[in-house]
Amino acid sequence: MSKYDHIRLSAYNANMQLPKLGLVLFTFGNVSAADRELGVFAIKPSGVPYEDLSPEKMVIVDFDGNTVEGDLRPSSDTKTHAVLYKHWDGINGIVHTHSTYGTAWAQSQRDIPIFGTTHADHLTVDIPCAPPMNDEMIKGNYEYQTGFQIMECFEEKGLDYKEVEMVLVGNHAPFTWGKTAEKAVYNSAVLEAVAQMAYLTEQIDKSAPRLKDALIKKHYERKHGPDSYYGQ
Ligand SMILES: [Zn+2]
Repeated sequence: MSKYDHIRLSAYNANMQLPKLGLVLFTFGNVSAADRELGVFAIKPSGVPYEDLSPEKMVIVDFDGNTVEGDLRPSSDTKTHAVLYKHWDGINGIVHTHSTYGTAWAQSQRDIPIFGTTHADHLTVDIPCAPPMNDEMIKGNYEYQTGFQIMECFEEKGLDYKEVEMVLVGNHAPFTWGKTAEKAVYNSAVLEAVAQMAYLTEQIDKSAPRLKDALIKKHYERKHGPDSYYGQ
């Protein structure tokens, strides 16, 4: 028994969703689950196949990226998770995948245009793509800098991480987050579906127009506004 068992279990369950949802191959991808009162998060160990994972194998790390408890090495992306937890209050789950369509957009260094209501049900803006980091940042503490690359992108575009819970890291792949690890996984699946739809839309019509403002507003408020009426 450990005081971290609840986040170990939550991180384990969320990680196991990734292969089930078709969002990862081999050991790609990682999910973490945080407990802000304890100031730590549980994250997948590095390079362990999903079928060999168990809650006990999740590594406990603090918001500076130091391992607090666990025998295995944490995911190589741990420092990116730590930076985001440290600076973005209120997020308790982070997911990173190399899901095919999301990654294809990231490799194209393009924001995913808001073409339809599926996208608008979740966010009212294009899914942002953070530009590739400069050579100095790459040579330095790469995974740590990826966290700042994401935060700088949000600052430059004037986005609120509580409203837009997903990003593409240019030339790399998506990161998503949420109030829980479960919500972050949900956001990863949404991002991948929206990325695929947007890709197909451009295949059918290269100059397909973006969704018009009235529909963006309607769909978003139906789910998120003070008078939301979608769901139970
Ligand atoms: Zn990656």
